Amino acid sequence: MQTIDIGIAGCGISGLAAALLLHRQGHSVTLYERFAAPQPLGSGLMIQPTGMAVLDALGLAEEVARRGAPVDGLLGLNTEGEPVLEAAYADLGVPGMVGLGIHRASLFGVLYEAVLASGITVQTGCEVTGLQLRGVQSRLTFAQGEPSPPHDLLVDSLGVRSTLVPPLKAELPFGALWASVDWPEDAGFNQRLLEQRYERANRMVGLLPLGEGKAAFFWSLRGDEYAAWQARGMAAFRAEVLALWPQLAPVTAQLTDPEQLTFARYAHRTTKRATAPGIVHIGDSWHAASPQLGQGANMALLDAVGLARAVERSDTLEAAQQAYLALRKTHVMLYQWLTWGFTPPFQSASVWPAIFRDHFMAPASRIAPGPRLKAYLVAGLAGAGLASLGVKVPEFSRIIGPTSPEGSTRGDGVTGLSASSTSSRASAVLQS
Ligand SMILES: Cc1cc2nc3c(=O)[nH]c(=O)nc-3n(C[C@H](O)[C@H](O)[C@H](O)COP(=O)(O)OP(=O)(O)OC[C@H]3O[C@@H](n4cnc5c(N)ncnc54)[C@H](O)[C@@H]3O)c2cc1C
Repeated sequence: MQTIDIGIAGCGISGLAAALLLHRQGHSVTLYERFAAPQPLGSGLMIQPTGMAVLDALGLAEEVARRGAPVDGLLGLNTEGEPVLEAAYADLGVPGMVGLGIHRASLFGVLYEAVLASGITVQTGCEVTGLQLRGVQSRLTFAQGEPSPPHDLLVDSLGVRSTLVPPLKAELPFGALWASVDWPEDAGFNQRLLEQRYERANRMVGLLPLGEGKAAFFWSLRGDEYAAWQARGMAAFRAEVLALWPQLAPVTAQLTDPEQLTFARYAHRTTKRATAPGIVHIGDSWHAASPQLGQGANMALLDAVGLARAVERSDTLEAAQQAYLALRKTHVMLYQWLTWGFTPPFQSASVWPAIFRDHFMAPASRIAPGPRLKAYLVAGLAGAGLASLGVKVPEFSRIIGPTSPEGSTRGDGVTGLSASSTSSRASAVLQS
């Protein structure tokens, strides 16, 4: 396609990645963000191999890996100490394959620095309220001031509460309190596992390594219980956490002020039309979900590359919109459906989803090909179509470092997870 003028609403993960990719194709790109200085909200997230494939295509994978922590797998135990959530990337059979725990600010920082370095225009203090379609061009309207100049294409990357799609009908009953804490050295945690503890499905606590000496702590909480949580006070909260996972004492000791914890309310929504005349929706504005499968940021990155490829390969904007949908729809629909199905066994006030999880889902998932399938789903690879997006999962030995025979990719003595065709090793590592 000839060069076009693109306005991108939202300086989040999808918006920044799309801006970089489209700018590199020679298009004129302007980013609009509500904050005076673009900034991420929240604590940590997991970058999956799919997300790393996009970051590698951007030439940013090494820098992101340097700021994050390689994670070999996920392990969640119930109150009986039985593994009810386990997945090991090693079960994919690809040497050195890992996920990456990272602070949201670190991922944002790498993308934002690249945007500034490439000279892309970033308009801050612009609260987007809607759009005006005039002929073949569109403008964004803002809470204050004049609309934007006309753009050939608008990209909505405003996230889950985008003002350019129909509003959320309802949030999910549960969300979670998140805090960034110092990594608890000498407390016996495995630095390469995302670990969680469950009491049925109504209580859950987790610890995700983030690198740079940090971890993300999270505690599942119903939205309608947030006020009561605030009223109970921090001492009661610390006691509640330790009753579920006593090993977290060095972490809870750091949590003294409710202001340290951010309550993120989760939502599930798939916008019916990901494209409309003059606009495409990418990231959470198209598909928001609870972070149970850890895919949102990765899907946002895949949308960005899908849009860039579609524009690159098409002669008209209409054809590019069709191509974007063709590249991304299957993956988006599959993971929206999976996340919808997997959320109740891990976050629900009812006892039945946890009974199903403990007595059927978890045992069945340990039987071949369960471990491999789980690793494939968690890695985000099912239906991702990376080849058609023109990206591939990078060699992790190049991105992170050489793989030791035990599976650790850093050679720093921390043992990772090794592959098994019949059972995930997440639990084996913890229990050894
Ligand atoms: C607690 C939590 C944990 C998560 N964990 C994971 C995980 O482990 N792995 C994973 O892959 N994903 C995870 N996610 C999901 C992931 O964070 C999102 O899917 C991802 O950030 C979506 O990117 P985005 O670019 O669509 O939106 P965002 O990153 O939300 O960016 C939206 C941008 O638009 C701006 N904006 C919003 N409204 C306006 C407006 N009206 N005008 C102007 N600017 C505006 C915002 O300020 C922001 O900069 C998690 C989410 C939460 C809440």
